[in-house]
Amino acid sequence: MRPCKICHQKDFGEWYDDCIGEDKPLVNHVVVLDPGHGGAYSGAINYGFRESDINLAVARKLRKKLKQAGATVTMTRTRDVNLAPPGANLDADLQARVDVAKRAKADIFVSLHVDDIPNINLTGPASYFPKGRSYSLACAIQTHLTEEICAEGHGVSPADFYVLVHNEMPAALIEMGYLSNPAEALCLVDSAYQNLLAEGIFKGIVSYFLYE
Ligand SMILES: [Zn+2]
Repeated sequence: MRPCKICHQKDFGEWYDDCIGEDKPLVNHVVVLDPGHGGAYSGAINYGFRESDINLAVARKLRKKLKQAGATVTMTRTRDVNLAPPGANLDADLQARVDVAKRAKADIFVSLHVDDIPNINLTGPASYFPKGRSYSLACAIQTHLTEEICAEGHGVSPADFYVLVHNEMPAALIEMGYLSNPAEALCLVDSAYQNLLAEGIFKGIVSYFLYE
């Protein structure tokens, strides 16, 4: 048995439902959530849905769960805006997100996205980490996320996305699903499904802090 770090009696598999809610396991942990894109940079658009809106909706739900568990949470954006001033380029927008995390003294940085590719058959989440570090954060999130939505997913991979490479704290970028798949697109814009995504990522973050 892998004992729960909150009650020390239950198994890791049972700790969450029984133990969180009573206690605040994330007190003293600072989480920066980065809803990808926004404003001038909408990200993927497919079937009339915008990636930036989905990222923000899930981030809001995730923020609520993290705060309830005692975490200090900062979001890089809370509205449909870009972060860099008008006329600046995409790198400046991404660097602004890195700056938010640095100022907040984040313990972890989690960037939320959805993917959009020519192959419309692909579904399920994938998680990315900067090469050589943060593997355990991406892995914890991917494991709990796929479990929560009963998806196989595409595992975890190293990647050189700007916000992964330039953040110094552990960082993960989560592609929560494919906006290119028509059925998954309808899920991704559904509030109940977004809540499942947030719940899975939340459990991954708690598991990372408690067990890694
Ligand atoms: Zn994106």
